Amino acid sequence: MTGKTTTETLDKADVPSDQQWVPNSKIKWQFDIDIVGTCNLRCPSCPVGNLREAGTSEKYMRPEMLDSIITKAKSECRVYGVYLYNWTEPFLHPNLADMIQIVRSHGIPCGISTNLNILKNIDDVMEADLQMFKVSVSGFTQDVYSQTHRRGDIEVVKRNMAEVAKAKKRTGSSVRLVVAYHRYLGNHEDEEAMREYAESLGYEFEPAWAYLMPLEKMLAFVDNDAIDVEINEEDQHTIDRLALPLADAVEAAKNTNNRVCPLRAKQMAITASGDVMLCCTAFNQDKYKLGSFLDTPLDDLQAMKYSHDLCGACMKNGLHEFFTYGSDELDDIGLANVRSHYPDAKLKSVKQMMGGERPRGFAAVPFKIKREVKRIVNQVRAKL
Ligand code: SF4
Ligand code: SF4
Repeated sequence: MTGKTTTETLDKADVPSDQQWVPNSKIKWQFDIDIVGTCNLRCPSCPVGNLREAGTSEKYMRPEMLDSIITKAKSECRVYGVYLYNWTEPFLHPNLADMIQIVRSHGIPCGISTNLNILKNIDDVMEADLQMFKVSVSGFTQDVYSQTHRRGDIEVVKRNMAEVAKAKKRTGSSVRLVVAYHRYLGNHEDEEAMREYAESLGYEFEPAWAYLMPLEKMLAFVDNDAIDVEINEEDQHTIDRLALPLADAVEAAKNTNNRVCPLRAKQMAITASGDVMLCCTAFNQDKYKLGSFLDTPLDDLQAMKYSHDLCGACMKNGLHEFFTYGSDELDDIGLANVRSHYPDAKLKSVKQMMGGERPRGFAAVPFKIKREVKRIVNQVRAKL
């Protein structure tokens, strides 16, 4: 996948304000399903790279299991979208196109995020009628990229980006191609080069402030007594490299004083074994898995989430707000930090790059038109 960034957030509309789980048929659910158990990279900001003792596995989810999960989910709630990744690389699955087709056969939008260091059967993937294909990067040159995408090769990624764009044209797919650029200190010059390259191929470009993940590491950072996980020297190095300074960002999020968490209220994170995790930000399956999705009613899973101790510690420290980009100040804090290290840096805010504050309802129409025009212009450019 990816690593978490500040743009990978759930819409906070329709989130119930109750602190107890109350079944609500209006909630639009997002399912984040890992279809494999591991990743080919070891990024230091991601638990696959920084929490190795918590383990990953070589497991694949079988297509029949995914079909059963979606069938049960649809019988219990409104499924708004299914993303086939959380902490893993979807292209490691031997039947990725089949997995996408299963989601689509239920009439549900499907997205993947990939580090794109591997690419297999791309025409089949395009023909499976995917809605979003996201590539996560953190540089345009290998020196910059390899520091934060450990074991990755940006030249391979760039070649694969071009292959994906060609496959999209070849198959007539209408998939949204997106590049998510993770911002760290020192990668701002590469950002412009990657934006130009990505847009020349017809990708939308979405910068995002990189985080230290998972929840276990963030909790150790803000409240060492709350969890038996350490911030080690390598984590500290990663923290020092983040463009968004963690301590200031968490403080801003904490000050919003909001007790509602959309990750708890309308999102289901499921592992390659079919187990439900407390939420998409927690990594250690031994400690934070709640039970099998297929064997446990959704309302029971939700009741377990709403009484979980870890949610209490997370909310007390404002981390749920931090994970869901709850504070508008985060953009300003990140930009100020980059400029204090690199006074000449020409960096726009994430909001500006994404087309400004995202309106809702009828007010969203001009925003959507603008985004569509940009997408078409990029596609035309890519064809020239
Ligand atoms: S590419 Fe990096 S951030 Fe994404 S899952 Fe793999 S190790 Fe984690
Ligand atoms: S652990 Fe935190 S982010 Fe996850 S569901 Fe609970 S409150 Fe939300």
